[in-house]
Amino acid sequence: MKEILEKLGIKEVNHGAYCGEWLHTTGEEVDVYSPIDDSILAKVKTATAADYDIVAKKALEAFKIWRNFPAPKRGEIIRLIGLELRKYKDELGRLVTMEMGKIYTEGLGEVQEMIDMADLAVGMSRQLYGATIQSERPEHRMFEQYHPLGVIGIISSFNFPVAVWAWNAFVAGVCGDTMIWKPSTSTPLTAIAVTNIVHKVLEEQDVPKAIFNLVIGRGSEIGEKLINDKNIHLVSATGSCQMGKRVHQAAAKHYGRVILELGGNNAIIVMEDANIELALKAVLFGAVGTAGQRCTSTRRVLIHEDVFDDFAQKLEKAYGSVPIGNPFDEGVLMGPLVNQSAVRAYKNALEKIEEQGGEIIYGGEVLTEDVPGNCYVLPTIAIARNDMQIVQEETFAPILYLIKIKNIDQAIELHNDVPQGLSSAIFTNNLQYAEQFLSDRGSDCGIANVNIGTSGAEIGGAFGGEKETGGGREAGSDAWKAYMRRQTNTINWGKTIPLAQGVEFNID
Ligand code: NAD
Repeated sequence: MKEILEKLGIKEVNHGAYCGEWLHTTGEEVDVYSPIDDSILAKVKTATAADYDIVAKKALEAFKIWRNFPAPKRGEIIRLIGLELRKYKDELGRLVTMEMGKIYTEGLGEVQEMIDMADLAVGMSRQLYGATIQSERPEHRMFEQYHPLGVIGIISSFNFPVAVWAWNAFVAGVCGDTMIWKPSTSTPLTAIAVTNIVHKVLEEQDVPKAIFNLVIGRGSEIGEKLINDKNIHLVSATGSCQMGKRVHQAAAKHYGRVILELGGNNAIIVMEDANIELALKAVLFGAVGTAGQRCTSTRRVLIHEDVFDDFAQKLEKAYGSVPIGNPFDEGVLMGPLVNQSAVRAYKNALEKIEEQGGEIIYGGEVLTEDVPGNCYVLPTIAIARNDMQIVQEETFAPILYLIKIKNIDQAIELHNDVPQGLSSAIFTNNLQYAEQFLSDRGSDCGIANVNIGTSGAEIGGAFGGEKETGGGREAGSDAWKAYMRRQTNTINWGKTIPLAQGVEFNID
């Protein structure tokens, strides 16, 4: 472990602010624990408000230079960062696992996602196109173009400690923006490691050094400073619905833009004709993978009454054979929850399930034996009703609710009857069910799949969700537009000034 930390430039005590160079921060010193065995990995001296001000000033200065680079040249810098990430994939993947607790293959997958995002952004850097629009006025040409926006605030959650940054940073980077990253205080070391990798690349290039900046500190302090800063042109915030609401309110005060990527309450519908084996695999990965700590984790399964009992039994059996333990151990499929507060949220949800009339049919236990630390729990299955308050909430833990449905109309109605709207899926071989689910009367989520689970998404599509999930879109497709300033231009190449809509305004 020591070797990995050293290779990634993590010291015993680390500074928590970067703007082309590491600042000597003097804020609170926090211990960073590994949920695997409760060991302390390193310490971080968090950023103070004064440190934030230095970083914000440097980011704005850098923006004024960076925006002048042609987008494909900006893409070249992202390409170099992608190459450097490839060199550190193993070490960074291991650090993700150590700091956050997801199994090692998922840690590696997260770094691969960063690399893929870099490649996608390099391509995008030559594709930041606007439309040409037919003008109603003669000898006029109308078109739109996209300009760099400014300084972007990136607030990230613990569960994807590096990928969330990459979704934003690489796209914002090619768009000509500079940025300030505020990672979760549970996972600051991966943020420091990534910043060291980026620093290495920028040092050798003739570009402003404060493009990819970092501030580490509590949401209630440094996070608040960032979201109330009117020089931040866009805040892209990933985390709980509660946090997103706060970001939205603060940004509204200065008409700031936001991209909100918030909580989900994702469901899979299993119809009577579904391929049950496929559905089981998808539900298992969706609900147990990453110990239920993905925004796209499967929280509810709406199962047709004809196959409910059979499905529940098979799922229970599958849960019984999930190896739980140290996420570095081969064969382990579920590691720990991120910290004790997550374990408390898990226990609290179990109590509420029983109070509100649900029935736990598997799990419901914090593990104390045969596991290295205090954050290991059993994945849990409960039979529930969709209208139970606890089912309406997102508990960020491996708890799955099974809900019986009678037909496709009822399934879709219950599916949509939650406050969140991120990811959704249906398992069916019936074309009409599938099309109804994808239609305007179907799933109200930002992501809707057929015969694929809710969890995990490819970067090529725009990622995000509706309702209390926040409405933001990140990563692929045309999500880049949110990171740019759009301008409509009209050029008159004639010798008269005709007005639109036929308005006459002439002096005789
Ligand atoms: P969280 O809301 O506790 O924290 C997220 C980030 O917000 C952290 O960096 C935190 O420090 C910061 N923050 C908190 N209060 C703040 C404030 N007042 N001002 C500014 N920043 C503040 O979430 P978490 O526990 O780290 O992550 C889990 C949550 O994230 C889940 O709800 C999950 O669904 C969601 N999530 C959503 C997506 C998505 O794309 N929709 C992706 C990953 C995670």
